[in-house]
Formats: sequence, C-alpha cells, structure tokens
Amino acid sequence: MTHGHDLRLFRTRSYPIRLSRRAFVAAGLGAAAAAMAKWQVEPDLVLYNGAIWTVSDRVPEVEAIAISGGRIMAVGTSAEMLALAGTQTRRLDLGKKRLTPGFYDAHAHPVFSGVEHLRNVACDKSSIEAIQKDIRERAAKTPAGKPVLGFLYDDGKTPQPLTRWDLDKAAPDHPVMVTHRGGHTMFVNSLALKSAGITDGTPQPEHGQYFKDANGKLNGRIADAGMESFAKLAAYEPSRADFRQGTALIAKMLVAKGVTSACDADGSPATVQGVQDARDAGLLKVRMYNHIGGPDLDKMIAAGLHTGFGDEWVRLGAVKLYADGSISERTAWLSEPYKDMPEFRGLQTSSPEDLYTSARKAHLAGWQIGVHANGDLAIDRVLSVFERLQKEAPRRDPRFRIEHCTLLNADLIRRIGAVGAIPIPFAGYVYFHGDVMHFYGEERTRHMFAMRELIDAGIRPPLSSDYTASPSDPVMWLQSLVTRTDYQGHTWGANQRITVKEAIRAGTLDGATASYEEHIKGTLEPGKLADLVVWDQDLLSTDPSQLVNVKVQRTMVGGQWMYEG
Ligand SMILES: [Zn+2]
Repeated sequence: MTHGHDLRLFRTRSYPIRLSRRAFVAAGLGAAAAAMAKWQVEPDLVLYNGAIWTVSDRVPEVEAIAISGGRIMAVGTSAEMLALAGTQTRRLDLGKKRLTPGFYDAHAHPVFSGVEHLRNVACDKSSIEAIQKDIRERAAKTPAGKPVLGFLYDDGKTPQPLTRWDLDKAAPDHPVMVTHRGGHTMFVNSLALKSAGITDGTPQPEHGQYFKDANGKLNGRIADAGMESFAKLAAYEPSRADFRQGTALIAKMLVAKGVTSACDADGSPATVQGVQDARDAGLLKVRMYNHIGGPDLDKMIAAGLHTGFGDEWVRLGAVKLYADGSISERTAWLSEPYKDMPEFRGLQTSSPEDLYTSARKAHLAGWQIGVHANGDLAIDRVLSVFERLQKEAPRRDPRFRIEHCTLLNADLIRRIGAVGAIPIPFAGYVYFHGDVMHFYGEERTRHMFAMRELIDAGIRPPLSSDYTASPSDPVMWLQSLVTRTDYQGHTWGANQRITVKEAIRAGTLDGATASYEEHIKGTLEPGKLADLVVWDQDLLSTDPSQLVNVKVQRTMVGGQWMYEG
C-alpha cells in the first residue's frame, strides 16, 4: 500500500507538464494557469510571433512556445504564451521566422570526423588555389618532414583534379596526402611519393593504381590498394583528448547546420568515452546515440550494458554489423552488375553465418541491431536474418535498423514493413553525389533512396548523411529529397520525390523513433526536450531548388542557444 501511495505522489508531482499539454493545446488557458500557480512554474523563455512547424499531427502550426527547465512547457498563440510569462521570463520575438524541431542525423560518423577535422585540412573547396592556401598555412605550422593531411576533397568539384605539382607549390617540404571524401582515392605530393618509395618505375600495385600523366610521370593520384604505403606515413592513433576535442568540434559544426541529435554509426568504448568527456567538459552541443561496432559487442555485453543505456545526451545505440560495401565507391552488393563493369556486382563484407551469429547474440542480449546494407542482395540477406531472429526468439519492438538500405524493390519493402525494420537512407546523395549516379543507371536510380515508396508503404525512414561521406546539412537533404535533382541540375528517380513536410518529419520525428526517443524529441510538444531551429527563410514556402541556400539563424538544444548566426 505504501508503495502505491508513493507512486501516486510521484505521478502527481510530474503532472504539470501533462496538465499543461492538455490545457493549452485542447482546453484553453484557464485550467492550465491554475495548474501553473499550484506548482509555481513559470517559463524561463517564451518564443513568440513565429511560424512554428511542430511536426505534431495534433497541433501542426503554432505561433509561440514556452520553455522551462530545458523542456517545452506549452505551445499556442503568442498571447497565450506571453500570458504565462513571469518576472523572470525572457521573451524573444521571432519576427515571423520559421521554426522547426532540431534535426536528427540518423547515421553519421561524428566522433571520427571530428578528430579528422582537428588534425586535417578540410579540402571541400571548389578551387585548387583555395586548397593550396589552406595547405600552405597548415605546413607553416607543421615541422618540416612531418605529414600534412587533407580530407573531404572531391575531384568532381574542382575545375581539374589536384596534381602532385599543385601540392608541391603549397608545401614542398612536407609529405602532403589529400584523401577523397569517398575514401578510395588520394592525391599526394612529390615528397610523399619519395617517402613512400614510389617512383615512375614502380610496378602497379595489385587492386590499386598509381596514376601517371601523358609522359608517364606519376601525377600524384593514387587509388585503392595503392594507398597502403601512404596510410603508413599518415598513421595516427587518436588519444582520449583527441576524441573529446574532436567530438566538441563536430558538435559545434552540426548545431550550426540545425542538427541537434546525431547517431554515431560505428563507435567503440573509446569514442563513447570521448563523447562523455566532451559532455563533462560542457562542450557537447549535440545529443548522441552511439552505435557500437561488432568487434566490441562482447565487451559491452560483459559489462551488462545494452541499447538505451545513458540519458538524453549520451546513449548507447545499436550494435553495428556489415553486409556489403558502399554506393559512392561502387562496392554495394547488387543483383545486377554496375553499368560500366559488366562482371562486377559489388562485395559481400560478411558471411551469412557470421552475420546471423553476431546478430543473434546481440538480439538475445537486448541490443538493437543496425546492419549496413546498400545493395538489394545485401538487404535481402539482412532481412532474412531479422525474420529468422523474430521467429526463433521474438522480441517486442526490436526496431531493427537497415543502415543505408539504398536499392529496394517491392518485395523487399513488403518484408521491411512485415518485420518492422527501419531503413536509414542517405538523405542528400542525389543532390551531392549526382556525379556517381550514372554507375547505377537511370532505371536503377528509380529504386534507390526510395523515400516515396517507403513512406507510401507506411514505413518511416529517418534522414542521414553518413558524414564525412556527404554533408550533414538538413537543407541540402530537403532539397535532394523534394527535387531528386543533383547540384548540376540532373534529375534521378523523380518517382521518389516527397514533400518538404514529409522530409522534415523524416529528419526529426522519424530519426527519434529509430533510436527509441520519440517520447522525448522529434516534435515540439509539451513535455519534450526544447531542441529547435530558427531558419532565416521559410522552409515550407521556399522554392525547393533554393532550399540549400536557407541558413540557420539559431539552434537550441535543451533550452540553451547552442548556435547563433
Ligand atoms: Zn556509415
């Protein structure tokens, strides 16, 4: 009896939020004001005079929002919310600006990319001169002979590809190695070639290439297995401090784009520690859901941990397993060969037995399972494993994740729905990687990143970048999904277009659902975390072909402004 009594008390104490939700959204101000007085709650902040898209079906559009203790206390008209304000309440006039929930990047590699940003020169530039300038600056701060590393380079986005001579001009006294953001080519200077012992006469590597110019001289472009000798020159083991600082840096970059939650899609105890360290230091501006790579699963199970452990800032995600290769590097495992490679249908990266054994172990230990699968054959294999697990050891609401889940067909979509799996597609690939879509051909791209078909089947795929593979940039995602047109103006699979409202919901609420967090985030409703973005233009009425130009004005996470433009 005592127990029951305590429980009732606890419920009563947490009631104001539920009362205020009912009262403000449904019944009106009077009853809620009484509840507020009773518990002496007044908002810390009222945002008013806005165009607020809540992503809630009940009250999709409101003018104002009251925030207390990092959570949303109430939503409604400006007059209703201002009437709640007390003497300590701050008020912010939104000037009719569009506000949405914060976005969720449901598959990225924030910790490792943060470490790369700390150490490497970002070469995502459209001119050779701009890249040379940054490499020159980094070289000036680096002892001669020590490597200068670049990343995020895309040779499709500069007038011509970088050469060793371009890099020599910037930094002749340092080995310079610039990796392509797709990860399977790099561009190096003369000193790097010399340090690696590669000359014009060196035989070509098996499964790789040292590219040469018309005169037979090495031009500095290196592919695949050829990169191994350079990887040794650049080798680097991040320290605990690197993981902390890298996480802090990437979190700052993400909130500036309107991302307030991210899934770190292949973490380890060391990366989770980095995220916790950043949080302890007050530097974590983005909430993180941390997948753990398969090789660390036993360690985590032995520690008694499973998916969901943590809190709304740092939480354990799924175990991450792999079934095939990648889309942008042409190694996804396909039923039909690649366009210009009649013999090649991609790579399987695990055997069916290994995939089943690891997945079963995780399933039985209470882990969510996230399997990387891009090609239709890989997705088929992953679904077979999920179907078998649910038959042998059914779990309620396992929310199996198919990370990427790129190339689909009607039967695969039916099976995804039946087993309750969640596809996590790339959101910006059509826009950003339009230059590789011809590997797949027009017909096949009608069934890639199949948002329209998935949503029509009642499935709710979230949005993701796989950063650094593509930018973690919600406005780019929206433009890509709504237009299915790349940055050069070519349209791929117009049949998969979705509306901007559908895309916003996918990028917010559906991301939260994929990590069992829909009760605390993803919509702007009373009781949920105050994670939101103020945009400089109205996402809902902007010409879809101009969405990439919309900027974030401010980003709030947990009631704090984490970014102000
Ligand atoms: Zn990934």
